[in-house]
Amino acid sequence: MNGNIQAGYARLLGTFMLGLMQNWPLLCHKVLDHAARVHPRRTVVSYAADGVFETTYAQIRARALRVAQRLRMEGIQPGERVATLASNTARHLEVWYGATGMGAVYHPVNPRLFPEQIVYIIQHASDRLIFADPAYVPLLESLVDRLPGVHRFVVLTSAANMPATTLPGAIDYESWLAEVRGGDGENSWASFDENTGAGLFYTSGTTGRPKGVLYSHRSIVLLSLTVNAPDMYGFTARDVVLMAVPMYHANGWSWPYTAPMAGASLILPGTRLDGASLCELAQRHRATLSGGVPTVWQGYLDHCAKTGERAASLGRLFIGGSPCPEVMLRAFEQDHGIDVVHAWGMTEMGPTGSACVMTPETAQLTGAERMALRQRQGRVPFLVELKLADEAGKTLPWDDQATGHLHVRGPCILREYFGGEEQRLLDSDGYFDTGDVGAIDANGFIHITDRAKDLIKSGGEWISSVELENAALLHPAVQEAAAIAAADAKWGERPLMVLVLKPGCALTQEELAAHLAARVPRWWLPDAVVFAGELPHTATGKVNKARLREQYQDWSTKRGSD
Ligand code: AMP
Repeated sequence: MNGNIQAGYARLLGTFMLGLMQNWPLLCHKVLDHAARVHPRRTVVSYAADGVFETTYAQIRARALRVAQRLRMEGIQPGERVATLASNTARHLEVWYGATGMGAVYHPVNPRLFPEQIVYIIQHASDRLIFADPAYVPLLESLVDRLPGVHRFVVLTSAANMPATTLPGAIDYESWLAEVRGGDGENSWASFDENTGAGLFYTSGTTGRPKGVLYSHRSIVLLSLTVNAPDMYGFTARDVVLMAVPMYHANGWSWPYTAPMAGASLILPGTRLDGASLCELAQRHRATLSGGVPTVWQGYLDHCAKTGERAASLGRLFIGGSPCPEVMLRAFEQDHGIDVVHAWGMTEMGPTGSACVMTPETAQLTGAERMALRQRQGRVPFLVELKLADEAGKTLPWDDQATGHLHVRGPCILREYFGGEEQRLLDSDGYFDTGDVGAIDANGFIHITDRAKDLIKSGGEWISSVELENAALLHPAVQEAAAIAAADAKWGERPLMVLVLKPGCALTQEELAAHLAARVPRWWLPDAVVFAGELPHTATGKVNKARLREQYQDWSTKRGSD
């Protein structure tokens, strides 16, 4: 630190003594520098559309440096957003590190969003350059007229596999990268402050417009460190991580940083996220851990049930993004010998907020009590401060009885949305209301009962849609379940259950009621059950309750006229 800055700090600090340690900005590319130096041979296997590539952290670093230089040649300025429409591959990872390494911001767009949402967020982020998998070229061609700001499309493939396209300025990634002057790149990252923006992610936007959350280098590095503690993800250099969490979903749960930080091998499965592929990849690469939303892992369980296959090396699974049902916990634990860690978070939290791992206080629990605890969302790590509060913001006790909104604050939690939407997000103590409702026990284990907007209020009392769904899922004929509020003249709202049954199975409303009556209070029993062919899902694989509510909003009127 130079003398002037030191003197400035000293003035600010007044009588406090300035620490005498090096002041190192926490920058994303430091993670890759570390992995390339300390774990240079650790492999990253990438399932791209044009083949399977085995690479290393050292090679990814070398190519990311070229991406940084090539982006400068392209005229991308520090602070500018660079979009990706891509599955999990090594090239995608290079683009992330290359963009942040020159001070730009990567902006992964979820290709499963509605086209209108994709157009909206690309325009909102003012992206001029898009990196896309070949599979998304037709989608982009259909949208390009509505994206006048985008001047260049780089397709994440090689020249030999470049699809014919009408996209302006389209070029394959390998040819684009080869245009770097001097061949090997400048071999240096840019220098800037750790609070510089690094990654931009839009919330799933099931209600209202998607909103942008802009992670900083500092927040990404800090969260990746903190979630890699042994009681959270705990990745090690002995792990082979099958990354089934899409990188475009909330910073890929930080795994593109935690894995190289720890020197864990990475398997990037591209679009191979169906149950059969996950099982095959896990076996082939002897993956030790993986994770993702319950829908993806239900696919894995269904595949294994059908074929009798197992990935014997898989020891741990991190399941989150929506509640992990008891039936899934049981299946993994009892039939597969896999330790499921139930995790909670949201885009606005960077995204990981908690994980459910046993403590000395809970280690002796057995049977139903143990299962009930494991279904909880767990405890917050260091750097996430948690408050339970009532509607008016008054703090509630952690006694497992009081139910309220979960509020969070910390250096990896959003302060405001990108573009200044929704000002004054935080309360006077700096807490952000997650909109999730639940209770916290004396050991700090969170139990989320619902999203505030998904709760069902019947006769002034709350019914947890999550608990109703979990109870329904315990019935062997039920594949998927969603409980939503239906308007009711007498009670205000009553539960309506939409069910998808397993192939070849049958269930009546009376049978379901008998099954549920043994598990939830009688007044929670759904007034109506709809058997559907499928449930609508959001772009991140969660059941789209907002859509279901729309679909069934006039259910009681319809029922009345039946
Ligand atoms: P997203 O920003 O798309 O990751 O969505 C975040 C929201 O997903 C949270 O606010 C919760 O409502 C929900 N969610 C995530 N993980 C869990 C979980 N383990 N249990 C219950 N809800 C969850």
